[in-house]
Amino acid sequence: MLLGCIADDLTGATDLALMLVRGGMRTVQVVGVPQDPANLPEADAVVVALKSRTTPPAEAVAESLASAEALLAAGARQLFFKYCSTFDSTDQGNIGPVAEALMERLGCRFTLACPAFPGAQRTIYQGHLFVGASLLSDSPLKDHPLTPMHDPNLVSVLSRQTRRKVGLVSYETVEAGAEAIAAAFGRAGEEGVEIAIVDAISDRHLRDIGTAAAGLPLITGGSGVAIGLPDNFRRQGLLSGDPLAGFDPPEGPAAILAGSCSAATRGQVAQAQEAGIPAYRIDPLELSQGKISPAGMLDWARQQDRDRPLMIFSTAEPDSIRQVQETLGRDKAGVLVEDALAEVAAGLVAQGVRRLIVAGGETSGAVVNGLKLQALEIGPEIDPGVPWTRSAGTPPLALALKSGNFGTPDFFVKAWDVLS
Ligand code: ADP
Repeated sequence: MLLGCIADDLTGATDLALMLVRGGMRTVQVVGVPQDPANLPEADAVVVALKSRTTPPAEAVAESLASAEALLAAGARQLFFKYCSTFDSTDQGNIGPVAEALMERLGCRFTLACPAFPGAQRTIYQGHLFVGASLLSDSPLKDHPLTPMHDPNLVSVLSRQTRRKVGLVSYETVEAGAEAIAAAFGRAGEEGVEIAIVDAISDRHLRDIGTAAAGLPLITGGSGVAIGLPDNFRRQGLLSGDPLAGFDPPEGPAAILAGSCSAATRGQVAQAQEAGIPAYRIDPLELSQGKISPAGMLDWARQQDRDRPLMIFSTAEPDSIRQVQETLGRDKAGVLVEDALAEVAAGLVAQGVRRLIVAGGETSGAVVNGLKLQALEIGPEIDPGVPWTRSAGTPPLALALKSGNFGTPDFFVKAWDVLS
């Protein structure tokens, strides 16, 4: 393994993994702290997906350190701490405390912090983070329920989260290219700066920052700054060929499990039904009353024609969701459906299903836990942000975990073609 990454949430981990695959690195994603580093699948990069963005700082630090330990034990030469491109955090953390703990573990005296992602309209100029044309503090992120961002100056934001000295490598230097940036990193280190916010308003800047960071034991930032990292390893002759060449999805019956009620998923469920995919609709109220059950859904599945995909979904329109939530409570309804879909997923795999699409972020988390999946090798992208993956362990599965709002309306119909 060349690059070991720790991401503070699941979708961010997938973003980063896709960025590395596009750059030519064979990449595996691990859900939660790796339990058994010796058994990680072979890869150029491993991305550990934690859920540590808003957990108490001590917990985020402990999980990040445990992940770092596993990645280093598996041979990682460089670590990358990935957080959101809008620097989602509070004055308590968790970006500062985790970066600091990783620096200490690696004995590293200097690192950079660059959440910029110009492709997604996140740019940094003179240390100030912009979302599109607005400063971070004027963007919708100011009203984020968990991490409201009221200060756009990342040097100040990060300074409040860490005892380490925070500095800036500004636009003028970044614009001058990789050598100038590397020299600035050296100078900053000599001047006692331990973490430098780095300006970037274009992908060229990110590539140059990546080049300049080749020798750093630790890099921190958004998935944008990873754009330049694969080339560092390629220049050393450590990367070969197509990262997807070894991707070998299992053959077998296919199923779709949809627990997302987002607009995109509603459209995809409708289109799958129109295309004639056999479908079972879960009514959460009937589920709560025991009128339907995972065992019944599995009986239904057993009776379907296995030469084509089947679909089990709880996806519903806002009015119906409101009614369910008023009766059961929002959280109880959510967990009820998630648990049922996780149980159905395990039952379908026991019936021989080997190809699975799961729609919904929380739903995907529940299914991954229910199937006890630890490592997912990243395969070809179906739509932006949603790759096919192959799970490690037995039996291997082809899995596509789709955030609610991702994908075109024909996603459930067309995704299978990407595998063949
Ligand atoms: P998304 O990625 O679209 O946000 P999630 O899976 O993260 O999807 O969240 C959807 C939540 O809604 C889950 O907790 C799921 O169990 C719950 N849910 C699914 N169907 C229904 C329904 N018909 N009524 C109420 N809640 C539902």
